[in-house]
Amino acid sequence: MESNRLKHLYVEELKDLYSAESQIVKALPKMIKAATSEDLRAGFEEHLEQTKGHVSRLEEIFKALGESPKGKKCKGMEGLIKEGGEMIEEDPAPEELDAGLISAAQRVEHYEIAGYGCVSTYAKLLREDEAVSLLRKTLEEEKETDEKLTQLAESINLEAVASQASEEGNSRPRKAKTARA
Ligand code: FE
Repeated sequence: MESNRLKHLYVEELKDLYSAESQIVKALPKMIKAATSEDLRAGFEEHLEQTKGHVSRLEEIFKALGESPKGKKCKGMEGLIKEGGEMIEEDPAPEELDAGLISAAQRVEHYEIAGYGCVSTYAKLLREDEAVSLLRKTLEEEKETDEKLTQLAESINLEAVASQASEEGNSRPRKAKTARA
């Protein structure tokens, strides 16, 4: 591809990511408020701080390019965040809510991983070395967040299964429980 076309594509995709990250900064406080698990809430809080850093890294890249980061709205991220918001509004049971929040957050991470993977390849082809290193740092952080969410999903869902099992155990008539003895 002609180098100035690639550069155009690079800047457009960076704008898309800038819009996506800015939307996440606004959405995460709502997710923090909605989360019932302490660990999940702490994870979202940590990721909010990280996301602010992702916005700053993009601003740094735009500054070096002499371009404005504004002017584009990432509709993909808008849709993902809207879906997450609708799930919260349905007012599910606490474990279901946390599982739903994790699922929404992982969709967001995967979307970002795809975006950062592409722009870091473009930056490499364009020999924008400084940008390559900044974009790869963010890409790594998005991957780490995704892994942490997978671990949280396992522990939170396990807790939910365990508490359901003990509830069932308590409500079961005594006779049935001792019938075997
Ligand atoms: Fe991010």
